[in-house]
Amino acid sequence: MSDIRELEVALGARRYPIRIGRGLLGEGAALAALVPGRHALVVTDANVAPHYLPHVQSALAGKQLGTVVLPPGEQEKTLARFGEVMAALAALGASRDATIIALGGGVVGDLAGFAAACWMRGVRFVQLPTTLLAMVDSSVGGKTAVDLPQGKNLVGAFHQPAAVVADTATLDTLPARELRAGLAEVVKYGALGDAAFFAWLEEHADALLAREPAVLAEAIARCCAHKAGIVARDETERGERMLLNLGHTFGHAIETEQGYGGLLHGEAVAVGMVLAARLSAQLGRAPAADAGRLATLLTRLGLPTAIPPGLDPDALLARMRLDKKAVSGTLRLIVWRGLGQAEIANDIPDTALLPVLRP
Ligand code: ADP
Ligand code: ZN
Repeated sequence: MSDIRELEVALGARRYPIRIGRGLLGEGAALAALVPGRHALVVTDANVAPHYLPHVQSALAGKQLGTVVLPPGEQEKTLARFGEVMAALAALGASRDATIIALGGGVVGDLAGFAAACWMRGVRFVQLPTTLLAMVDSSVGGKTAVDLPQGKNLVGAFHQPAAVVADTATLDTLPARELRAGLAEVVKYGALGDAAFFAWLEEHADALLAREPAVLAEAIARCCAHKAGIVARDETERGERMLLNLGHTFGHAIETEQGYGGLLHGEAVAVGMVLAARLSAQLGRAPAADAGRLATLLTRLGLPTAIPPGLDPDALLARMRLDKKAVSGTLRLIVWRGLGQAEIANDIPDTALLPVLRP
């Protein structure tokens, strides 16, 4: 076991650990300690299960254990799949002291977390993220949800995990496209709040793509520390936490218009950040040179920076209006102020937005 990093998310009196390191899923006793009750339900997907489910099953050999293996993909983050998880909990006879374990990427984490928020009005929840995106973003902070055809994450709850355990060795089997999508969220932290981290990413882009373990672990830890800080200050997204949605109003509109079958979430966020940067540059709110550096880094990381062909700008704008961040019909956007800075704005007119949405 190489070096393990441990961070903490502190929410007033409540706190939980984030452990990051290679081989953590092999530490059976530490995993078992995360399940104090009799019942545990592991939610995972069909790509992840063959590699990593046996680790979790052997760690929890003494427990009454249920398993739900979902088909992979964002299209599966539905109320129907949520119903299947509820049925599995009922079949297991899961009681109030049950633990739900999410083993997988953000899709599994969001769905399993929402199940944990709802089963008997809330049971214990552990995140075992296996994608870079889940390790740096979705597994930390307690946002859980499923999608509707009308929009992403429209049904959900805030429900914090009891622990996040990120075994970075699981990234060895992650498809390259998924790794790059996760890197988009990594870049987001630099773009919105940490210019020094952005410069570090520019320096280490090749090492990240090559999955150098020490560099990946450093990036994950820095992102988690950043996110933990924001969540501690604004758990339920009344203010500062909204900044983490940089690029997301654009990105969600693209994903939803494509029916969740086109760009991956991280890819859509990469495009969204570039659109946000271009909008800001046009409005004179961010230096054009910074917008250029952002697009260059994303391109080096193999990420898209333009809206996919065939999407109608008016349709995208309509989708953006439906975004959860919209308040009483006014579009609320995270506006970029240049490397390391972002702010919330309610005053962006359609006349400024539409040109950015044109191909
Ligand atoms: P995200 O974490 O980006 O929200 P998903 O939960 O949809 O995304 O996971 C992305 C894809 O990668 C899915 O097809 C999932 O089955 C697969 N996957 C997740 N973790 C691993 C892993 N460690 N190795 C191989 N495939 C994985
Ligand atoms: Zn995201």
